[in-house]
Amino acid sequence: MTLIVAEYIWIDGTMPTAQIRSKSRVVEAPQSQTSIDLFPEWGFDGSSTNQATGDNSDCILKPVNFVLDPIRDDGSFLVMCEVFDRNGNAHPTNTRAALRRVLEAGAHTQDAYFGFEQEFTLFDLEGNPVGWPDAGYPAPQGPYYCGVGAGAVDGRQLVEEHLQACMKAGLLIYGTNAEVMLGQWEFQIGYRGFDEPADALKTTDDMWFATWLLHRLSEDYDIKVSFENKPMKGDWNGAGCHTNFSTKEMRRAETGKKAIECAINQLAATHETHVKIYGAGLSERLTGNHETCSINEFRAGESDRGASIRIPISTSQNGYGYLEDRRPGANSDPYLVAAQILVTICGLDQCLMSETAKSPQVALL
Ligand code: ADP
Ligand code: MN
Ligand code: MN
Ligand code: MN
Repeated sequence: MTLIVAEYIWIDGTMPTAQIRSKSRVVEAPQSQTSIDLFPEWGFDGSSTNQATGDNSDCILKPVNFVLDPIRDDGSFLVMCEVFDRNGNAHPTNTRAALRRVLEAGAHTQDAYFGFEQEFTLFDLEGNPVGWPDAGYPAPQGPYYCGVGAGAVDGRQLVEEHLQACMKAGLLIYGTNAEVMLGQWEFQIGYRGFDEPADALKTTDDMWFATWLLHRLSEDYDIKVSFENKPMKGDWNGAGCHTNFSTKEMRRAETGKKAIECAINQLAATHETHVKIYGAGLSERLTGNHETCSINEFRAGESDRGASIRIPISTSQNGYGYLEDRRPGANSDPYLVAAQILVTICGLDQCLMSETAKSPQVALL
């Protein structure tokens, strides 16, 4: 008998922004091809994760997806779990269940692709962004975006190790870059134009796997990873999670133009609903400055980085392709963002969001 370690990962109930949790369990190594059945259901103490009260605290972890664990790197796995209550109902914090039900309610017929640009900020243990002086400020923004060289970037070793870990795990990692504020970086997860599975659930699961990996690797560098929307107040860029998406009709030359126009009109009509679930404290980032559109406005524009929805140059040139929703904050939940975009552009019932997942953010609706 060969034994391996499985890292069970789930999303907790922290308010107002859910956090990621994990614990390790020994399982038998697969004899042949691994299937999800290799990983038994498990439980945890929900009273310590804001998911239950002390007198009734058992929550169920149901494995739903797995990838190779690139850190243990010995045939072990990372296992994504959904949280259920003991009666078998999806827990109110189980936002993946909301996305599943939106797909089942009809969105899956659209073969939607997503691509998330996850920005994040690295802090040293004293609480300064990496690369910043202990007192005062670095030189103004300008040289840092996609910068190279000491002084222009800081934290690259962690970002590079994370990139390699995502590759090894087989995630839909698309790329990385240094961001506009010193100490801020981005990784992208999503559709890569390759012939490979890249459905909405795979892409959003990969986002959470990548987030877990970044937090886990940050332990080795004594660096804290922050997904705050506006980690440094003042004249410094906030951190977002631009969400690129396309449906099969948007991607097709014959139907693209009409489908894209229609999606933009639907997004314009539902702006207030979207910004409610696009991350806590979003108004601090969506000010109308620093490459954002004000939270009180909706605007779509070609190549416009001050718009809510940017129509990328390739899409406007071809007349078909994808759109970029620039509104989601770095602390948004990709399950919820994908689910809400699908509800809107597929014309589904908004109740699918609030009835099925009363997550910390949806609860505010
Ligand atoms: P930006 O120019 O906004 O910084 P990036 O190069 O960082 O863009 O990221 C591009 C994103 O677009 C990636 O996440 C990728 O997965 C996504 N993407 C590309 N083509 C499509 C498509 N057809 N449908 C959905 N997402 C797409
Ligand atoms: Mn980008
Ligand atoms: Mn960016
Ligand atoms: Mn972008």
